[in-house]
Amino acid sequence: MEHVDVVILGAGAAGMFCAIEAGRRGRRVLVIDHAKAAGEKIRISGGGRCNFTNLGIAADRFLSRNPRFALSALKRYTQWDFIARLDAEGIAWHEKTLGQLFCDGSATQVVQMLLRDMERAGVQLWLGCAPGEVKAVPGGFSVATDRGPVVAEKVVVATGGKSIPKMGASAFGYHLAERFGLSVTETRPALVPLTFAEQELAKLAPLAGVAVQGRVTAGRKSFDEAVLFTHRGLSGPAILQISSYWREGEPIRLDLAPGHDMVANLRAARGAEPKVAARTVLARYLPEKLARHIEAGAGIAQPVGALSNAAIEGLAAGVRAWDLKPVGTEGYRTAEVTLGGVDTDGLDARTLEAKSVPGLHFIGEVVDVTGWLGGYNFQWAWSSGWAAGQAV
Ligand SMILES: Cc1cc2nc3c(=O)[nH]c(=O)nc-3n(C[C@H](O)[C@H](O)[C@H](O)COP(=O)(O)OP(=O)(O)OC[C@H]3O[C@@H](n4cnc5c(N)ncnc54)[C@H](O)[C@@H]3O)c2cc1C
Repeated sequence: MEHVDVVILGAGAAGMFCAIEAGRRGRRVLVIDHAKAAGEKIRISGGGRCNFTNLGIAADRFLSRNPRFALSALKRYTQWDFIARLDAEGIAWHEKTLGQLFCDGSATQVVQMLLRDMERAGVQLWLGCAPGEVKAVPGGFSVATDRGPVVAEKVVVATGGKSIPKMGASAFGYHLAERFGLSVTETRPALVPLTFAEQELAKLAPLAGVAVQGRVTAGRKSFDEAVLFTHRGLSGPAILQISSYWREGEPIRLDLAPGHDMVANLRAARGAEPKVAARTVLARYLPEKLARHIEAGAGIAQPVGALSNAAIEGLAAGVRAWDLKPVGTEGYRTAEVTLGGVDTDGLDARTLEAKSVPGLHFIGEVVDVTGWLGGYNFQWAWSSGWAAGQAV
């Protein structure tokens, strides 16, 4: 039987970060993961460059039943702390857009840094090892594993969400929380492409490959980022962002030329250059393929000079207010994160410890804290891992 101070379930971003902190404090730490390699999601993140944090960390960039819950950890271990860590390692980075920071080189640099720090902190790592039942025992917990039982004073659950099951994602953490009497809020795929019924898809599919800087709105939430038309529906950053807010049965609205008064632009063209095709005017604000599609969709064949006010308004609406009704999402197969999770009401914001189960902590994505696209989810993993690492 293995005896340690702290056993951490999950060698992802949060689990590794927590292990380093606890190990540096002199705790005997064992990290267990059923995957063959640690930090696999870090490795593939950000297109292989890892969008490791965001300069604009704030409560309104996170979804949770209690969005302020995350602030305690986020303020104690900030984006600047993580940036300083990369700088100290000589890992070069750059800001891509909207405060999103990426490695100049490869995401594996971050994984290697974490593995090195774990080793230096004396952390043991068991990969390819499946944890089973976790039971409370006098003085701590016993964790069944396929290498025999492990007894520890503290258990940290860092098994992440359900997205990308092919990479080893599982609902282990949620079930464990429930077995210990904690509540888990509804989980659903987020940061995920939206899908459409056949009839609507038939209208979108010819545009596959087109990308446009647009605004997408669901309910009262809007995002101004790129929208990408695909063979399966809609994707791109704006769509991934809105997927966290969209609910089944609701429409979304695409504005393909935000900030442009298309009625005024088309009217001006009608007066100044009446022989020009409507699509030519639209193509000043949109990709050509999209301009043609909207012109055809509005049933317009005549030049802009022959358009009635009503026809101009119809065309402008096609550009600025394209209403669509998604039927679903691509699901956990492609979702970047899982919305919902272990209810923050049951956790101490400072230590991430379950209020009703002393010694049991939940960190990272398994908690009901979900960030926007753009490095927010990794910052939550670092910050929550750091906070628990000071406490276990
Ligand atoms: C394709 C993709 C790209 C992404 N890009 C970014 C990005 O650029 N920036 C960003 O901020 N976020 C990004 N994310 C989200 C980010 O990866 C996660 O939010 C983050 O990894 C969560 O960290 P975590 O440690 O909580 O969970 P994870 O990193 O998912 O780690 C959980 C670990 O637990 C292990 N595990 C699961 N179940 C079990 C079990 N039953 N037994 C043992 N071990 C188990 C897993 O093998 C895994 O190693 C991306 C996600 C995906 C899928």
